[in-house]
Amino acid sequence: YKQKLQSLKGTANKTVDGIEIEINANIGSPEDIEGVLANDAKGIGLFRSEFLYMDGHALPTEEAQYEAYKKVIEAMEDRVIIRTLDVGGDKELHYLNIPKEENPFLGYRAIRVCLDQVDMFKVQLRALLRASVYGKLGIMFPMIATVEEIKEAKALLEETKRELLAEGIAVSEDIEVGMMIETPAAALISDVLAQEVDFFSIGTNDLTQYTLAVDRMNAKIAHLYNTHNLAVLRLIKMVVDNAHAAGIWVGICGEAAADTTLTETFLGMGIDELSVSAPSVLEVRKTIQQIDTSKIQLKL
Ligand code: PEP
Ligand code: MG
Repeated sequence: YKQKLQSLKGTANKTVDGIEIEINANIGSPEDIEGVLANDAKGIGLFRSEFLYMDGHALPTEEAQYEAYKKVIEAMEDRVIIRTLDVGGDKELHYLNIPKEENPFLGYRAIRVCLDQVDMFKVQLRALLRASVYGKLGIMFPMIATVEEIKEAKALLEETKRELLAEGIAVSEDIEVGMMIETPAAALISDVLAQEVDFFSIGTNDLTQYTLAVDRMNAKIAHLYNTHNLAVLRLIKMVVDNAHAAGIWVGICGEAAADTTLTETFLGMGIDELSVSAPSVLEVRKTIQQIDTSKIQLKL
């Protein structure tokens, strides 16, 4: 079976009726690129940058980040989407000395930390912008819940860009700026948010947890954690519709993107991109190649 999948290398992610879907890979470090290329993905849909921060005992320097981002961008033929720091929740950074919280998943995490610790955030933005000249870069902000947050994040990105240009440092002119949709709030106002960005990437891991109020780390209620749940699927469909109405593309980068029992549903909604871990790329491609989107009947 594995060998049969290997024969799909070099073939298109195209449905029976000729619809092409982008399949990209999720990575956590430049070392993952080898596996991505071996599995025939052309781009990166989610680079979880927090692993650069979690490896050491102090914040990674601008230089270290720049080198890591540059390496990935140079290695890929297609677009590389790098997500800005997403700590907090289940991902602790000991050296930041963030006090223990009652509800870490509802607490000081991701974009909330970055908009609060602007100096730290700008180091990452500088590294990203400097690396942007080596290929096609997308910058993606995590855990957005309000329109103010995305506006603030974008303003800091613009400010950082101006500062670099003033220093005579080159920055790419065509960086795509996007955001994760992983809170129900973001899904519900995705028509408004779509005016602010070039793309959406749906984080079904968190979206499921927050929609169903089921902690994704709690084994005792794992049976209640279900991305196939109607409420979750309706939110995803709403996001796809709002993205397309605004003329932007929309993908999924949570684990559900690799769930081949959901591929038909996602294609029926009109999803443009799926980003999965490297070992799932060919399996999802195979599934797409067997689907005829004109025959899909969505029951949502
Ligand atoms: C998600 O929430 O679906 C996601 C992709 O982000 P993470 O799993 O890193 O929280
Ligand atoms: Mg998430």
